Amino acid sequence: MKIFEQIENLKSHLKEIKKQGQKIGFVPTMGALHQGHVSLVQAAKKADNYVVCSIFVNPTQFNEAKDLEQYPRTFEADVALLKQNNCDVVFYPAVESIYPPEEKVQTFDFGYLENIMEGKHRPGHFRGVGLVVSKLLDIVEPNNLYMGQKDFQQCAIVQKLLELKNIQNKTELISCPIIREKSGLAMSSRNQLLSSAEKKQAQILSKTLFEAKTKIKILNPSELEKWAFEQINKENGVDVEYVEIVNSTNLKRLKTWKKNQTAAMCLAAKVGKVRLIDNILIDWLKDET
Ligand code: AMP
Repeated sequence: MKIFEQIENLKSHLKEIKKQGQKIGFVPTMGALHQGHVSLVQAAKKADNYVVCSIFVNPTQFNEAKDLEQYPRTFEADVALLKQNNCDVVFYPAVESIYPPEEKVQTFDFGYLENIMEGKHRPGHFRGVGLVVSKLLDIVEPNNLYMGQKDFQQCAIVQKLLELKNIQNKTELISCPIIREKSGLAMSSRNQLLSSAEKKQAQILSKTLFEAKTKIKILNPSELEKWAFEQINKENGVDVEYVEIVNSTNLKRLKTWKKNQTAAMCLAAKVGKVRLIDNILIDWLKDET
């Protein structure tokens, strides 16, 4: 496995790889890797890609300085995990090479998609995501881009980014299922910041999502959102920011259940000081015709 810190070195290496006719699969991450990240590397490998994984804690997507400062960084362990999973290249750039001080900042307008849920609660977050993913795509120019449904809204934003950059025919976004701990808790780098008591409390998030799926015949979407909100807030030390049920394609809020439509129930909550997100797909509507 090769590790590159310099953009130009990575680019010339990938030029050679592409010349050999290999497909590039790209897994962008912020490090502190876990099995969720590994599942993306494995999906890329399985599809016979030459796999590039980036590790870059992107400052422009953090809307709180403290959050950025406290974000876990475990580079040595990350490298070992990627090596074990046959990743081909790690890209580990410095902040100044991704954001040269003199460079003019490019902005992408994601419209509605950036003003709801995560975008509403973390102003500027998706501008930062759009900026960094755009830069990484320009460097790696992958055939396939692997991202997790754990960040459900981010997948929609990145699909839109591919369209805004007009590279949707060159790079395909492949969104992969959420990997969970045995307890149901969605794996996240931020879980490392939870105490063991908080980790237990955090189980209420997935527990509520799973239970919500059993209530769709008796509650309409807004009743179900309300039920879930209250259910989670009852847990000590857990503070919900939002629970929203949206159409999984256009992310518009669902008012009624409709046949042949897949919905996603998305939420964010603070467990102690740690902000977590999770979601679940509600796809029964397809079958219930
Ligand atoms: P992050 O390092 O948190 O920016 O995540 C990097 C990529 O890994 C993103 O595409 C995430 O959606 C994905 N990811 C994070 N956690 C999980 C998980 N539990 N299951 C699947 N994918 C995940």
